[in-house]
Amino acid sequence: MNTQDYIRREEKYGAHNYHPLPVVLERGEGVFVWDVKGNRYFDFLAAYSAVNQGHCNKRLLEVIQKQAGTLALTSRAFYSSKLGEWEEFMHKLFGYDKMLPMNSGAEAVETALKLARKWAYKVKGIAREKAKIVVCNGNFHGRTITIISMSTDPDSYNEYGPYTPGFVSIPYNDVVALEAVLCDPDVAAFLTEPIQAEAGVFVPEDGFLKAARELCDQYNVLFIADEIQTGIARTGKMLACDHEQVRPDILILGKAISGGMYPISCVLTNNEVMLTIKPGEHGSTYGGNPLAAAIAMEALQIVLDEKLAENATLMGEYFRSEMKKFDSPFIEEVRGKGLLNAISIRPIKGKQAWDVCLAMKEQGVIAKPTHGDIIRFTPPLIINEAQMADAITRIKEAMKTFE
Ligand SMILES: *Cc1c(COP(=O)(O)O)cnc(C)c1O
Repeated sequence: MNTQDYIRREEKYGAHNYHPLPVVLERGEGVFVWDVKGNRYFDFLAAYSAVNQGHCNKRLLEVIQKQAGTLALTSRAFYSSKLGEWEEFMHKLFGYDKMLPMNSGAEAVETALKLARKWAYKVKGIAREKAKIVVCNGNFHGRTITIISMSTDPDSYNEYGPYTPGFVSIPYNDVVALEAVLCDPDVAAFLTEPIQAEAGVFVPEDGFLKAARELCDQYNVLFIADEIQTGIARTGKMLACDHEQVRPDILILGKAISGGMYPISCVLTNNEVMLTIKPGEHGSTYGGNPLAAAIAMEALQIVLDEKLAENATLMGEYFRSEMKKFDSPFIEEVRGKGLLNAISIRPIKGKQAWDVCLAMKEQGVIAKPTHGDIIRFTPPLIINEAQMADAITRIKEAMKTFE
């Protein structure tokens, strides 16, 4: 089978809910992936930042083999020897009283929304069915019906209605707009991404998170941070909120807490919020299984042992400074934090971000446009300086091919 055969097979038998770059991947190791023809690529998407620890990480492989051969799934009908160990690990690492484990990021967001509503009725004293949750224009929190009900992107919500009510959307990075809605006593929570990644890597002004945190305190509103993509060292700190020493009331994690090995997500919060949910009121068959627990602990320990946050800061600064110095008519803006970066592309002679990505693929670097004219650059956080220099040269070569 050649590349086209693989692509045609997916097109024929698979749903058309993605528009992949025409490359068929077969193998991965560290910062690299190989296609079915044996071509090597720098992976500058890293599965939307799920593979921060690098592809097929040896330490994760060992833990998976060991735990999968010992006990993989118990359901939460019983206790397991691994879940408590993981919960305690998360308490020590992030400082919250309790964790609730799920699988996909969307499920963790749903869990956070449920917690916020329960807290609104049981603790804050909002009248039943009246709780509102404030979100930001341009948000991306996943794909369930409730989550797309708070999306402002027509591609996400069109023709999936009727929608879940109870959300109020305000401009991102706008403290004045936030205060104007938070003073409504029916507001239970403010949900935000510390950096809007899917929307195109929009970094808010310094101080936005801190100001939002203070307003939430002032109005007795829960501050919920969706760090599914920004967390786990991606932006140069374990959490993006750490840049402003902001501590969310509810923290949502996913993606890289498994190092790309398994769908794992979780919600962290303190007793006042977490204990509003009673036995039987929420759950997941796979959530918190022993295999997931073992993988998550190892994936996080790798981030700490290998100082991936520090590396993300250094390599991110290097990437942005090189790309800012590079004189290409394509480059409108280079922005980001740590290794969560984007370049907005100015179309030249009919060539757009998609064409730049195709040219980069020819040079051995794969990345994908997000929202039309923006290319996100998010390699695994284990990338070293020589590899980054090599990748930057290739990205520049790709942009030059159109001149
Ligand atoms: C990817 C992502 C999600 C959804 O995670 P899934 O595992 O795809 O359900 C939610 N929020 C943010 C910020 C994300 O990047």
